[in-house]
Amino acid sequence: MNRIHDLYRPLPERIRDFAEVERPLTDAELADQTARCLDCGQPFCHAYGCPLGNLVPDQNRAVARGDWRTAWDLLSANSDFPEFTSRVCPALCEGSCVHQLDAESVMIRQSEKRITDHAFAAGWVLPRPPATENGRSAAIVGAGPAGLSAAATLRRRGWDVTVYERRAAVGGLLRYGIPAFKLAKNLIDRRRLLLEAEGIRFVTSLEVGRDLSAGWLLRRHDAVVLAIGTPAARDLPIPGRTLPGVHLALDLLEGQNRHLAGELPAPPVDAAGKRVLVIGGGDTGSDCVGTAHRLGAAEVTQIEIMPKPPSERSPSTPWPLWPQMLRTSSSHLEGCTRRWSLNTLRFLGTDTLTGVEVETVDWTLTPDGRPSKFIPVPGTRETIPCDLCFLALGFTGVPADTPLLAQLGLTPTPRGTLPSDPARRIHCVGDCATGASLVVRALASGKALPL
Ligand SMILES: Cc1cc2nc3c(=O)[nH]c(=O)nc-3n(C[C@H](O)[C@H](O)[C@H](O)COP(=O)(O)OP(=O)(O)OC[C@H]3O[C@@H](n4cnc5c(N)ncnc54)[C@H](O)[C@@H]3O)c2cc1C
Repeated sequence: MNRIHDLYRPLPERIRDFAEVERPLTDAELADQTARCLDCGQPFCHAYGCPLGNLVPDQNRAVARGDWRTAWDLLSANSDFPEFTSRVCPALCEGSCVHQLDAESVMIRQSEKRITDHAFAAGWVLPRPPATENGRSAAIVGAGPAGLSAAATLRRRGWDVTVYERRAAVGGLLRYGIPAFKLAKNLIDRRRLLLEAEGIRFVTSLEVGRDLSAGWLLRRHDAVVLAIGTPAARDLPIPGRTLPGVHLALDLLEGQNRHLAGELPAPPVDAAGKRVLVIGGGDTGSDCVGTAHRLGAAEVTQIEIMPKPPSERSPSTPWPLWPQMLRTSSSHLEGCTRRWSLNTLRFLGTDTLTGVEVETVDWTLTPDGRPSKFIPVPGTRETIPCDLCFLALGFTGVPADTPLLAQLGLTPTPRGTLPSDPARRIHCVGDCATGASLVVRALASGKALPL
């Protein structure tokens, strides 16, 4: 038996709503899956793949024999927010599963999801306040996964913790970036209640650096933890960029999440009946594809400047590395033309967007198959007609003129990441410290605070 591929709710049903697309595996399906675990003597999933060091083989064994309580105790020993990772993690553990050498990896993320759902349903997930207070206080700036993880970790060690968040609600990109069809937002509210019951205070709708001085926070607290993410999206400053119809991906994704939460009266973009082009072939682009479908787009195309990845693991990422390979999301399965090796030259239109001019590029590959440089292919210019275009091109780091940086005397590195300064009691975690990454890495970074 291999992996189960029929994982999503029926397409005609899911395309009409923003509820989570994945169906839960049945206990029987999961027992079969976890029984596939080889219980390796040297478990790479646990020791190499998972940034949190989840005890995957032990969890799998417990699930296979239906012992959910033990599975939960093992999972929650390392993972403070499994309800998030079990829904949105690409599952780095699965990339280093030994089965990847000759078959398909065990469905570890699905197993984590069922363990967590069982635990919440059974009432096993309880606040874990510290046994004793340590008399020290920390201010955490940013309530994304890195900030939440830092807060939970410090509170457990007895710190008095206050989290400051500029948005109306906590969660960072979990709430405002990742679409609700991948992660239901009530799960973040449920977790906030647990953290508050542990004694963590949240102050929302307050931007540190603008509404409150970061210098004041540093004077008042024993430590300041910056978990502010990478707010600056990479733009595409080519002719026609200011035409109505050209948007950054987060304009769509954040706006739609805010609309669903009742923060905005209408969806941010009217995509009904429109031809949508997404530039950027990564996960954010895929999220735009799924969101555009649900807003009634007539057709959706996604283009990428990089070459089409191989359908199997690329030789540039041998096991147990996370495999570079073609990935097809639930949003792609909902209908999407995908094209690669296309460079975007200009946006076309007079009063509004009517299309995008692109050109095919030829990539030179390194001996192990990694794309290294490209040249345009003469005579390949063409127009892709579209009414809406979303730019999903990644993030450029923390801008040097972010007000709180001057207040703390902190300078970003040339890559736009923030260095910690432990001697001055300033610690940086998550995307702002590493560059744009993953939820699980942000969680691990908050948990690894040397305080
Ligand atoms: C569209 C999209 C989809 C993604 N999908 C996935 C996925 O499926 N799986 C995955 O693993 N990763 C995904 N990622 C990446 C993942 O969301 C990030 O790596 C992760 O959220 C980083 O966590 P963080 O806490 O460092 O930053 P963020 O989540 O960005 O949180 C930073 C928080 O700090 C707040 N803040 C910033 N400045 C201030 C200030 N001055 N005062 C107060 N508050 C402030 C922000 O409002 C925000 O809430 C996705 C990213 C995007 C953009």
